[in-house]
Amino acid sequence: MLGSLTGVIRVAVLFLLPHFAWAQGQLRAGVAKTAITPAVHNRKVYLAGFGHNRIATGVHDDLYVRCLALEAGGQTEVLCSVDVIGLFYDDVLKIREQVKVQAPRISHLIVASTHVHEGPDTLGLWGPTPLQTGVDESYLSWLDSQIAATAVTAARSLEPARMELSRDDHPLLGLLQSVDRPPIVKDPYLFVMRLTGIGAGKTLALLVNWSDHPETLGGENSEITADYPHWLCQYVENHLGGTAIFFSGSIGKVSTLGNQVALQDPETGEIAQDRTWKKAELIGTRLGQLVERALKSAEAPQVNSILIRKSILFAPLQNDHFRMAEAAGVFAGRKPLYSDGKLDRSTVERELADTGRIRFSTGHDLQTEVDYVELRSGDRVVAEVATVPGEIYPELTNGGISRYPGADYPDAPFEPALRAHLKSRYQFILGLGNDELGYLIPRAEWDDQPPWLLNRPQRWYGEINSAGPDLAGVVVRGLVRLIEQR
Ligand SMILES: [Zn+2]
Repeated sequence: MLGSLTGVIRVAVLFLLPHFAWAQGQLRAGVAKTAITPAVHNRKVYLAGFGHNRIATGVHDDLYVRCLALEAGGQTEVLCSVDVIGLFYDDVLKIREQVKVQAPRISHLIVASTHVHEGPDTLGLWGPTPLQTGVDESYLSWLDSQIAATAVTAARSLEPARMELSRDDHPLLGLLQSVDRPPIVKDPYLFVMRLTGIGAGKTLALLVNWSDHPETLGGENSEITADYPHWLCQYVENHLGGTAIFFSGSIGKVSTLGNQVALQDPETGEIAQDRTWKKAELIGTRLGQLVERALKSAEAPQVNSILIRKSILFAPLQNDHFRMAEAAGVFAGRKPLYSDGKLDRSTVERELADTGRIRFSTGHDLQTEVDYVELRSGDRVVAEVATVPGEIYPELTNGGISRYPGADYPDAPFEPALRAHLKSRYQFILGLGNDELGYLIPRAEWDDQPPWLLNRPQRWYGEINSAGPDLAGVVVRGLVRLIEQR
């Protein structure tokens, strides 16, 4: 009799524990991933990232959306990473609408792209010609719904979890990043977050944040691949368990391409050739090993609340290529312009000397968003997540903006350095977060008119793929306001 009563009490205690722990502000985590690889044999898939009219001929490895849900103190934050070149803010707003209907308990959703250059064109810029879109609208709508469904699945699988945080600055991290525009500033820091289920003690998810363009295969490859993040995630999942989720960081002007990034192939003893599968595999695997190393010195703080702040921003569009593309429908209506905070779809036709009459969109601004999330233990901020709606130059993240002869705005004040304003050791900066506005370049380094920086005979690469010289200031100052808000 006594024995069976004890059994009943034990069952009741076990049943109550998870709920009791949750009620105390205990962290819960959930994860999900879904393949999003487009079918390439029954339709034309334009590959994004290098020249126009690159058509996919096969699939080397699948592309994924991977989502992590974190819940503490009544807030549920979901972070999704998508293996595509970028997604505009309008898509993120559509995804959030779907999520709101399916899982109203999700407080906030971040969708960031890894910026892979060997996947479908989700922006439109790499179609058959510069003024013809590369977007397949039916694929993109399907992709939006897959991202929403994956976010919802992650939030529905929440379970009590323990968080470990780590960062690393091993010298090899900087050697995997090639920079060929001054100043030679990089953002080599590797940030890792591991979530382990308290019940079974199994790894649920491993979030990795690091900065480098996933473009190792170059423009000649025509097979779909997630590039080095594919091997990184594979290594991490095989060696550490759970679902790996990779977020690109401060990737402006930082590349895996070129001879600056030289890795020895252990099988041949030779340096892996540039633009090869072997080089992408070696970068991803090395990074996976560095993640494993970083976790050996991880901290495990008690996260019991999440603070979420977001701000909608308007940044002036100062790039006429983007105005022509928008008017021609290249962005498939997904990057409309705004004037005085209101949607403005007006256009004008202009006569250009070399191309004839061309239509331009005339609205003033791009609408975008920045987010700042604190993971807290009581009053202490233990980790932070900040989103950047594009490809930020690392000197805007770490400091090191420089003045050079030839700059278009030689006296421009420097934008604040983002990391200097963050409060914790664990600073997850999610590049291409909720939007892709191209390069964020310090205004003092902006160079769209000759003479070129450092009297180089030809122009530097960068400005052509940026919304303009004011974008960096609008975004970084917007983020600093969120970080310092009380
Ligand atoms: Zn890029």
